[in-house]
Amino acid sequence: MREELKKIKEEVISCSKCPLSDYRNRNNYYPVIGEGDHNAKIVFVGEAPGLQEAKSGRPFCGRAGKILDELLDSVGIEREEVYITNILKDRPPDNRNPKGEEIEACVPFLDRQIKAINPEIICTLGNFATRYIFKRYGLGDKLQGISKIHGNVFSLVSGKQDSLFDKRGVEKIVAFYHPAVATYNINMKDVLKNDFKVLKSFK
Ligand code: URA
Repeated sequence: MREELKKIKEEVISCSKCPLSDYRNRNNYYPVIGEGDHNAKIVFVGEAPGLQEAKSGRPFCGRAGKILDELLDSVGIEREEVYITNILKDRPPDNRNPKGEEIEACVPFLDRQIKAINPEIICTLGNFATRYIFKRYGLGDKLQGISKIHGNVFSLVSGKQDSLFDKRGVEKIVAFYHPAVATYNINMKDVLKNDFKVLKSFK
């Protein structure tokens, strides 16, 4: 598993399937592959690296990351206990939304990371991650805007799981608002904190 995660890292570094790798190289940015416990029960999937992340190679280390740290702390979970990654491994220019073709090029890495780590629960942060993960795990019929489904834990029916994920398999998926929302609407931090309480049973 460690080997597979290492291989994924090497492949991301040399990947040129979308123009974001060019943008990364021109700006001397790092790809942001993911970090945390390789045996984590909880995997967080965000959208894409921002500037701080691209400069350091670490996910969620800027303003949104501070909020994520606070949320984890509020439910007694250490950042080191979970695994944190993103849909895109490279920063889109000006933090614009990921494009369809970028998502398509990058998600095979995410699929393999999840397969290698084999968590109990995947937590999606924001709309992009929620849309991808819900569809990937056969929950497309449960997919609604994040304002409707945030904080709800969805159990995966084994028959609906992809055979790619058939070891013990991911058991649950929960969608959260992206922590960045709390950087421009402080009231959202309480909503997020309340939603994060569902993670207490996965520690
Ligand atoms: N926002 C994300 O979605 N991911 C990061 O790593 C940082 C900010």
